[in-house]
Amino acid sequence: MNRVHGERHCGQPWRRQLCSTGEASGKAGAIQYDGYSYGVLNNTHARLWDNLQTAITNAFSQFPQRRGSIKVYAATSGGSFYHHDVWPFTNEYIQINTTNGVWGDYGRFTEAHEFGHAFHHEALGGYPNLPSSCDSHTWYSDEDESCAYVEGFADFFGVQTANDVAGWKAYVESNGPREQALANGITNGARVEGEVAAFLLDVMDGANESWDSIAYPGSYLSGIVQTCSVQLNGSWYHAFRIEDAVFCMEGGVDPAITNNGTYFPGQPTPTAVYEQTSHPPGWQQFGASLRQLWTHNLYGVN
Ligand SMILES: [Zn+2]
Repeated sequence: MNRVHGERHCGQPWRRQLCSTGEASGKAGAIQYDGYSYGVLNNTHARLWDNLQTAITNAFSQFPQRRGSIKVYAATSGGSFYHHDVWPFTNEYIQINTTNGVWGDYGRFTEAHEFGHAFHHEALGGYPNLPSSCDSHTWYSDEDESCAYVEGFADFFGVQTANDVAGWKAYVESNGPREQALANGITNGARVEGEVAAFLLDVMDGANESWDSIAYPGSYLSGIVQTCSVQLNGSWYHAFRIEDAVFCMEGGVDPAITNNGTYFPGQPTPTAVYEQTSHPPGWQQFGASLRQLWTHNLYGVN
């Protein structure tokens, strides 16, 4: 979940504050409990802290980018979300609901997902404010493309960096969200976060499915998210839709895609793309393997 609105203040009784200490190096740092005035840390807070540290450690082993510390609130009411802020990020935080956002595989996934937003926003070039419709979303709901991209990245990040979330990872890998979206008549996977996540996962995981002959390093994927920009109507924008990332990975905007009404319908077409990654071994402009990867995951092409 991602929230732009709904800011609350630290220290309300229903919320325990876990404050992180920054390190100049940008490492996650150690989280400290912020004073006894809010009560005593219990095992739920300890579990939350431990899960997050694990996800952050896993993330830093897979992706080269780093970000600074972030406040994490453990809340007994309200949802789990990342509070999006703009530079200099003075009011950026994560809130985790202790009822369903801490324990078990869903808790581990949720915490990694929210940190994924924070990683995306501060370490990977950021993303714009999302429409308020994005405050409530599911793996397979029809969303604005920007919402599906940001939430899909966080979903991918969650299954990739949380420990022991094999069931959720298999759900993404087997295109479960696409099946559910199709059952609701939603065919454009660029608007479905679980389908975006499935594509990103297939970019990075093994060449392990009939449509997936690619296993690109995490540094490439995160480098695309970080450095991809597209030119739209004469202005440059940091990538904010999965199609932007697709065009950057493909190495340009192929008319065979943009003149085909099947893919990314209803969206303005970039006139140019820019990214700064080192192309992984086997990469080629408009390569068939990458195209098969996104057309399968977003549009069901075999
Ligand atoms: Zn989210």
